[in-house]
Amino acid sequence: MTTKTKELNGSQQADWNAVGGLIPGRETIGPLFLILSTPIFSFIIIHVVMNVPEASFTVFLSDLLDDPDGMIAGLCSIIPPPTDPEALRIVACFMAFQLVLQKYMPGEDFVATVTPAGNRPVYKANGMASFVCTLFATLLLHAFDLYDITKVYDKFPEIISTLNVFALMLCALLVWKGRVAPSSTDCGTNANWIVDYYWGVELHPRVLGWDVKMFTNCRFGMMFWAVAPICFAAKNIQVNGGNLQFGMFVNVVLQLIYIFKFFHWEMGYMCSMDIQHDRAGYYLCWGCLVWVPTIYTSQSFYLAEHCPDLPFMTNLIIFVAGCLMVYINYEADNQRAVFRSSGGKCLIWGKVPDKIVAEYQTGSNEMKKSLLLVGGWWSVSRHFHYIPEILASLCWSLPAWNSAFVAPYFYTTYLTILLIDRSYRDDDRCAKKYGTYWSEYRSRVPSKIIPGIL
Ligand code: NDP
Repeated sequence: MTTKTKELNGSQQADWNAVGGLIPGRETIGPLFLILSTPIFSFIIIHVVMNVPEASFTVFLSDLLDDPDGMIAGLCSIIPPPTDPEALRIVACFMAFQLVLQKYMPGEDFVATVTPAGNRPVYKANGMASFVCTLFATLLLHAFDLYDITKVYDKFPEIISTLNVFALMLCALLVWKGRVAPSSTDCGTNANWIVDYYWGVELHPRVLGWDVKMFTNCRFGMMFWAVAPICFAAKNIQVNGGNLQFGMFVNVVLQLIYIFKFFHWEMGYMCSMDIQHDRAGYYLCWGCLVWVPTIYTSQSFYLAEHCPDLPFMTNLIIFVAGCLMVYINYEADNQRAVFRSSGGKCLIWGKVPDKIVAEYQTGSNEMKKSLLLVGGWWSVSRHFHYIPEILASLCWSLPAWNSAFVAPYFYTTYLTILLIDRSYRDDDRCAKKYGTYWSEYRSRVPSKIIPGIL
């Protein structure tokens, strides 16, 4: 681990740029626009889901345009102060609990795959134990009346306000730390504060022994995504005379299965594009500290007070379809993980899969080899697993059947755009990394996501 910010050589800079998706001439404008607009959007979505009839964006927009005090005043009125004592307590306790679990929950050391600068970060594999412990703690608080978890619903706008301030300050600290005292050689500045703020400076920063991205992405973002819907379900019970509506149940349980799958695979995630290539900046850290808690939980937030009573069979079909989609997504990720960890010596769909032995050069000019799977779901298309990922999210949104379309389905819409963009980014990155080997994979598996279409 070095303590000096490194100037990037040509191929490393190309890798950073590919990862960041920088376009000459637009490097500053795009990030600046997103830094200014996305926090406001996080408040808009909460306001629309909580206060606007049928969670309709069109009603919200026409109200905003007709606001007698003007649009700016209208927007400001939906942003709560970040200093609400209850919200501060909830955020501080949850973060402290997760930090303690991250560091002290027993788990084996896991050595991740090689980063662009040739490092192999080590993580503590205690995600599943922390997840189970967090769910138990939440249910115990509720069952023994130790804390009224419906407050997470009531104070949700204030919680998101607090998180916004925390995340914006953390991202500034990360730029400063990355420039002054980086944790490893996986770092590099773009010599532009806004770009550095947005894309980050370091790949895997550590503070006092805590890995920052493991905290923001997994232990806060994903964990909050599990806990918030449970709190919203408690609200649903409260407003429905002590009964949990089946649609809310379907919504929450499908997400918990999905997040269980995530923590089962957490060390695989620590080798994924988010961790191995996207740096710790606004895009990732604000995204996991604010965007995930707001957008990913938005259907549950909507359903807490607006869950329609769909026929039992409809909800059951949605539930079974959702489980199937989560399973297929898991199976695809798992095929790749098993294939790589066994060096290709495994059976996939009953036969030894085809493979490409791809060579590549790291930032420190070392030659390495990777195996590319050309079997199972990875022979159907190059990112087939994105289809069940999107459909699973649609399934846990569908209990909001009667809503005015946009808000409770916003996550699915956003996810579709995100994953299509990701498939292009990943393809570019792999083409740069593997060269002719990736061209061979492309010719053997021509479709990016949907066979024959995209
Ligand atoms: P990953 O980084 O895990 O996967 C892409 C990487 O996999 C490539 O960069 C390459 O990495 C490797 N790879 C690509 N093709 C092959 C192959 N044929 N054989 C072996 N390795 C290959 O990110 P994903 O986009 O796959 O995401 C992982 C999971 O997270 C998925 O289930 C996805 O749906 C989910 N996800 C969810 C999101 C959400 O917001 N809900 C957002 C993004 C993802 P290498 O350099 O190692 O070769």
